[in-house]
Formats: sequence, structure tokens, C-alpha cells
Amino acid sequence: MRHYTKQDIKAVREALTNRLNSLTEHIRSGLSESEQHQFTAILGRGAGDSSDEALAISLGDLSAARLDLDIRQWQELKAAEQRLDAPGFGECAECGTAIPVARLMANPAACRCIACQTAFEHSHAGQARGSL
Ligand SMILES: [Zn+2]
Repeated sequence: MRHYTKQDIKAVREALTNRLNSLTEHIRSGLSESEQHQFTAILGRGAGDSSDEALAISLGDLSAARLDLDIRQWQELKAAEQRLDAPGFGECAECGTAIPVARLMANPAACRCIACQTAFEHSHAGQARGSL
């Protein structure tokens, strides 16, 4: 079942590719930032004793946690890219209606319509925020 025209798919693909590119750039700069600023700043302070090493490692972990979200988004976009040509692309995972093209362009990895997404976020609001 097709819900979109070729132009729709093309527009969504372009939006997806743009996001993927900027996300890739962001992850790359985040990685070099963590290497250059955090590790060299700490290790370059003098003879690194064991507590400095521990600090460097925990800062590295912090940076990885921050990048984790970007990497997960990147994976979602990659998955959406794979689905783009499949017949069921853009169908809401909950109710099966076609997600509007405008929503897909704003968020190409969207897998729910706005009504279902809102309901989902309400029922998962507590868990999503985690321990912070
Ligand atoms: Zn829905």
C-alpha cells in the first residue's frame, strides 16, 4: 500500500540525508573533542597519577553518554533510510495510518503518527527521563 508520491519520498529522503550528514559531522566533532580537550588536557597536566587517569576515563564515559543519543538517532535514521522504499514506509506503528509528509520531513525516523506519539510519550514520560 502506497501513501506517498515519488515527490514525497524524494523530499523525505533529502531531509533524511541532510540530517544524517549533520549528525555524522556532530558525532565526529564530538569524538575529536573528547579526545583532544578532555584526555590531553588532563594527561598533559604533568605526570599522570592514577587519580588523573580515573578522571580522564570518567570524562570519556560522560562524553560517550552524550554522544550515545546522537549515535542512536543516527541508527534510527539509517533504519528509516532502509525503510524508505518499502511499501509500508510512513505507516504509524500503532494505528497504521499514514504519517503526514510534513511530519516525516521534520523527523524522518518518526514511526508513529502525532496522536500515537503523544500517547506514547505520556505513558513513558517517567521512564524516559531516567535517573537524572
Ligand atoms: Zn497512529
